[in-house]
Amino acid sequence: MSDSNCIFCRIIAGQIPAAKVYEDEHSFAFRDINPQAPVHVLLIPKRHVVSLKETASEDHAVLGHLLIVAGKIAAQEGIAENGFRVVANSGGDAGQTVFHLHLHVMGGRPMAWPPG
Ligand code: AMP
Repeated sequence: MSDSNCIFCRIIAGQIPAAKVYEDEHSFAFRDINPQAPVHVLLIPKRHVVSLKETASEDHAVLGHLLIVAGKIAAQEGIAENGFRVVANSGGDAGQTVFHLHLHVMGGRPMAWPPG
């Protein structure tokens, strides 16, 4: 199910342009418009899920699928060997700004820990 008010649902539908890097039946990935690393891809489920807090039992398979696809995207983008980071900001304190679940797949430079 998609939400016509959701910017990421509209990207999946092709109503808002995005630089697509991957798509399959259940997921869609595109470059972040404000990249925080040399490679910064957003990977989203096609089904509109608000955040990790709102996941349902029917999302079980797609959540696992997203993690596997994140690794494939890292390989495709050439960041798998040196290392990459996968982040899901969930809710206000984490800094979530778009309320369609997304994994940030980032790499291409050394990253600090803890994150800010
Ligand atoms: P978050 O703050 O974790 O919710 O991440 C939302 C991300 O979406 C941010 O990194 C934004 O730069 C990115 N973003 C917002 N709108 C777009 C867009 N139209 N195309 C690509 N990335 C976007």
